[in-house]
Amino acid sequence: MADLVLAATGGRPRVPPGLDVREEELPLAVDGALRVPGYERVHAVGDLVVVPHARFGPLVFPHWDMAIGTGEHAADAIAGVAGELDRLPYWWTEIGPRTFAEVGWPDAAVEWAEEDGTHVGRDAAGEPVAALVDEPRRLREARTLLGY
Ligand SMILES: Cc1cc2nc3c(=O)[nH]c(=O)nc-3n(C[C@H](O)[C@H](O)[C@H](O)COP(=O)(O)OP(=O)(O)OC[C@H]3O[C@@H](n4cnc5c(N)ncnc54)[C@H](O)[C@@H]3O)c2cc1C
Repeated sequence: MADLVLAATGGRPRVPPGLDVREEELPLAVDGALRVPGYERVHAVGDLVVVPHARFGPLVFPHWDMAIGTGEHAADAIAGVAGELDRLPYWWTEIGPRTFAEVGWPDAAVEWAEEDGTHVGRDAAGEPVAALVDEPRRLREARTLLGY
């Protein structure tokens, strides 16, 4: 009989130095310009923030693509050209030989079903809000399904 070892490694956001922010306030609930509460010209991005997302509402999404997206959004906000943050949440991971990827916000899903090989999460209105695929080439279809 084979043994199975499951290990999980994650990160915990820490208070950035020099800011008047308490540990209990993390992740930080920032405004649409990703400003740190109480600071007009300090922006926070990545794993540190609760993102005010245009479609899915406030969400914590500690993955690479959203770290890039929030960084870009903060830069746009500083430049005065940012609208609402509407980047489609996206992560991927490799487990052994398999690659999994998901788009959307699974917390918004109330039911899941397999549809043509894609695991689709739908909200209470039946709208697709998340899609999980096990072949990266299917990501485009998943994005299209969610209207992106
Ligand atoms: C083990 C592991 C596996 C992961 N795998 C995936 C994956 O497969 N797919 C995916 O989408 N996401 C994955 N993630 C999540 C992804 O790594 C994070 O979401 C992303 O790195 C967050 O970016 P960030 O810029 O917010 O923070 P970080 O990437 O953590 O960057 C923060 C930076 O700040 C620096 N720093 C900290 N304190 C100070 C200080 N006082 N002064 C100056 N610099 C400081 C740190 O050294 C670091 O370079 C994984 C995370 C972990 C831990």
